[in-house]
Amino acid sequence: MLPLSAVRATIASGFLNALIPVYRDKYDKSTYEIVHELTANAELRTVFCHLYMVLCTSPRNLTFPILAGGFHHYNSCGEFYPVGGFSEIPLSLASIVERAGGRVMVKADVQEILFSGTKAVGVRVSNRDQVHDILAPVIVSSPGLHNTFRRLVPREVAVKSPLYEIQETVLPSRGVILASVGFNKSSEYFGMKRETVWAFSEPDCGLASDRWYNGTLEDALNSEPPGTYTKTKTCRFCL
Ligand SMILES: Cc1cc2nc3c(=O)[nH]c(=O)nc-3n(C[C@H](O)[C@H](O)[C@H](O)COP(=O)(O)OP(=O)(O)OC[C@H]3O[C@@H](n4cnc5c(N)ncnc54)[C@H](O)[C@@H]3O)c2cc1C
Repeated sequence: MLPLSAVRATIASGFLNALIPVYRDKYDKSTYEIVHELTANAELRTVFCHLYMVLCTSPRNLTFPILAGGFHHYNSCGEFYPVGGFSEIPLSLASIVERAGGRVMVKADVQEILFSGTKAVGVRVSNRDQVHDILAPVIVSSPGLHNTFRRLVPREVAVKSPLYEIQETVLPSRGVILASVGFNKSSEYFGMKRETVWAFSEPDCGLASDRWYNGTLEDALNSEPPGTYTKTKTCRFCL
């Protein structure tokens, strides 16, 4: 990470403007367009694009460098699975926070971020019928740009941030459903291979996902999702 002053100096120098045209065509075109130029085979295009699913958008809305970064990540690092299941991640983090003197709250709905002028100083949290103001020196908001700037930061403060303008042009993310199922038997017991199976409702994943995303809720409920993936790296959660 560079200090903010170094970032500002780099932008002011014009260096980035000189560099960006080299890659501009890859940024201006969607993944789907680039893959279209490579092959007319719809199934092969879907193979090239399939990682769009973990990035939660249609290949037509996905910039190519983000997809390429995803492939690089999987090819060079592989995948990892937390021993004991996904819940081990927050449980382990909670004990570190508590050892450092912090507290972790669950089922605590942040209603708004509290400000003194334009400095965030705390959060207003509701739990059942009770409301608590919790003050802290640093406030980090993680539910995304839209939720933060439209729901949690008071409008009069939000409009002063350079991010406010961005949230008016950026669309909210797509929703996804991830279900993790654990068994108390080993993969060998079920004859389950260590693999990821990607399944698509039709050969051209770009057209299928556009139709799904642009349709109504009713359409989505009455049709097959454009794609799904099933990972069977291990079937036992508690080793
Ligand atoms: C399909 C998919 C697959 C992914 N696969 C991987 C992977 O394999 N490996 C990997 O490392 N990453 C993966 N990621 C990315 C990873 O899940 C995210 O980077 C990570 O969860 C971001 O963490 P976060 O704490 O910033 O935000 P989140 O996990 O989104 O946490 C924000 C939390 O804030 C809560 N919240 C929202 N509003 C309020 C409110 N008003 N009051 C209180 N709480 C609120 C939400 O309920 C949520 O629990 C994947 C993401 C997706 C969508």
